[in-house]
Amino acid sequence: MSKSFSSHSEDSNTALIVIDQQYDFEPGGQLPVTQGDEILDGIAQLMRTYKEVIVSQDSHPAGHISFASSYPGKKPYDLLTLDDLNDPHFHSHFTKEVVRDYLKSVPEKNQTLWPDHCVSGTHGWEIDKRLPLDKASLILRKGNRTECDSYSAFKENDGLPTGLEGYLREKKIETVYLVGLAGDFCVNWTARDAVRVGFKVIYDSTLTRFVNPQNKNRVLQELKSLGILIKEV
Ligand SMILES: [Zn+2]
Repeated sequence: MSKSFSSHSEDSNTALIVIDQQYDFEPGGQLPVTQGDEILDGIAQLMRTYKEVIVSQDSHPAGHISFASSYPGKKPYDLLTLDDLNDPHFHSHFTKEVVRDYLKSVPEKNQTLWPDHCVSGTHGWEIDKRLPLDKASLILRKGNRTECDSYSAFKENDGLPTGLEGYLREKKIETVYLVGLAGDFCVNWTARDAVRVGFKVIYDSTLTRFVNPQNKNRVLQELKSLGILIKEV
């Protein structure tokens, strides 16, 4: 099994995509993923091996629509749904119309509310400097619009493309190898979008960690059912 995966790094048609390996997602950060820093050495090694390396960076303005702090009465990790808009006690820094339009535009019609994280210019927003960022041909920021979240590196949550697909096509990339954080959100959504637009996708489950580790088996099964290769050891 490992042999078939190891050959990809020599293949110029394969790109390594390092998702959101930022201080806020590592232990001690604002939205810490348990053991999210254990994968740094493995990712750094791959970055030194691949010819084409892309790094994504979650990047939000203060007061972002995904932050629980934008909804007085809500807590981090609460789920915001369209039903909340019918609650007379609903409060938001956004108008109801903005929140309704946003929730209707996202595939799952809800938004997990997060602690304030990856606010542009803060320490937590920075990509971990232990990674050899000089190896990256592209650093792709996502989530910059106040009124829309972005998990996938290919599309913001309302469907607006980031440009990554075109970038990869211009570079004649056919396979993407995905690592980084978090396995149940941004790596997961990136994998789904990549396979949907026709790339061969390898999701390295040894070089990711989960916001909720209980999601792991379900996510891996779903990704396998979509034809995504999972590296498990
Ligand atoms: Zn975010």
